[in-house]
Amino acid sequence: MTFIVRTRGAGGPIVAEYACPEHGRFEATVERILMPDALPCPDCSAPSPWTISAPLYKPQRGAVVRGRPADKPHPMAMDTRELGEGMPIAEWKAKRRKQWAEHDRATVRRDQAQRVERVLHAPEPGK
Ligand SMILES: [Zn+2]
Repeated sequence: MTFIVRTRGAGGPIVAEYACPEHGRFEATVERILMPDALPCPDCSAPSPWTISAPLYKPQRGAVVRGRPADKPHPMAMDTRELGEGMPIAEWKAKRRKQWAEHDRATVRRDQAQRVERVLHAPEPGK
């Protein structure tokens, strides 16, 4: 078994990374020799198996840091993965147009709802 976990000195506590199926990665400081194969998730206590640490992870002594998923891209961000997987450009552009049409309709609906809210909550005249 190979440990790809950085250590501070020989033996002693190390920071290991575990992954909850529900809440994602978290780090825990554990004794190197006793390093458990799984730990309870700090959020839901579900057994969370040890995982290989992310490449840019920095060891922190004595800290338990919850993992955080990467920021989601903007919903309308251009995603060319399907093109890379062989989708024809015309099909991809049609899908993109459809996404924008849905996005525009949602924006219009939200603006209308906000206008209705303003009218409903406007102060009555003469007061
Ligand atoms: Zn959890």
